[in-house]
Amino acid sequence: MSELVQKLFSESDLTDIEFERLLSSDIFDVELRVVADGVRRLYYGVDVYVRGLIELSNYCRNDCFYCGIRRSNRELERYRLSREEILTCCGVGYELGYRTFVLQGGEDNFYNDDTICEIVATIRKLYSDCAITLSLGEKSYQSYKSFFDSGANRYLLRHETADAEHYVKLHPAEMTIDNRKRCLFDLKQIGYQTGAGFMVGSPYQTVQNIISDLRFLQELQPAMIGIGPFIAHHQTPFQFFKNGDLKLTLRLISVLRLIFPYALIPATTALGTIDPYGRELGIAAGANVVMPNLSPVNVRKKYELYDNKICTGEEAAECRHCLEKRIASVGYKIVTDIGNVKEKIKK
Ligand code: SF4
Repeated sequence: MSELVQKLFSESDLTDIEFERLLSSDIFDVELRVVADGVRRLYYGVDVYVRGLIELSNYCRNDCFYCGIRRSNRELERYRLSREEILTCCGVGYELGYRTFVLQGGEDNFYNDDTICEIVATIRKLYSDCAITLSLGEKSYQSYKSFFDSGANRYLLRHETADAEHYVKLHPAEMTIDNRKRCLFDLKQIGYQTGAGFMVGSPYQTVQNIISDLRFLQELQPAMIGIGPFIAHHQTPFQFFKNGDLKLTLRLISVLRLIFPYALIPATTALGTIDPYGRELGIAAGANVVMPNLSPVNVRKKYELYDNKICTGEEAAECRHCLEKRIASVGYKIVTDIGNVKEKIKK
């Protein structure tokens, strides 16, 4: 094994200069993948956890430059799921073996805290053996706490980029990296299994920016880390930027597995969009989660964060079976399990 990969494996860390070497070349990719796969097997065996994704609204008050559902996209047909539709999605998902529901949406104030709390409490009562994950953007400490007290136990909020200068190139002035980080630390303090993450190959991103992302994750110590390639959306200011790179995304999945051996790392839909086997490759590189869609088929295409998003036409059952086959084809297994994060093994 090369000294660099050996050091990352044994110390779960490198210097900035060493990270730069590792990330800037593909010569370590094969051994990185093999070592990362060994670590994921030590923690999770060949199990792959599934999370049923329910995209409850494509309204958003924000205007992130990279996002297809940003408020300035006037072409988009907007929708919101009703409470009953959300509960129906959970029922379908439960029958299919999902034990985590992810309620995700744009920052849509139509659902006030009381509404979210009531929906969460109902899901908690109906499906007591399931995890409830929320992904509803930046909120106050009090809002996060009230959702948690109602029964939510995980929260996903990608930080997107930890570098302040890079952050302003991706977001309008009213959004700040400080507030995003504040949200993530609040979530952890409240007791959520917290998920952060970033885009790979976003406009203006440098290797130094990626190293800042790794350093921020080391500070936060999240339970879940979601990364996916940037993919341009044709109705955004970033429509002409190049998409993120498959190889670099896979390399980073392996690097994340070695820095955070216990983490829940999804092979994202964006990865499956830039390459037909992207999700399988992501699992083989160290990821251990997939997030198939449970949203009603008639709204799927409208939740278009980026162009050509896959899996927008299939019923929930088809998605589940398709993924089961795909994951099995590379030697791993989708399991019916709540899929909590594991404790770090002491070396
Ligand atoms: S990335 Fe999130 S917060 Fe930003 S516009 Fe899209 S849905 Fe809204």
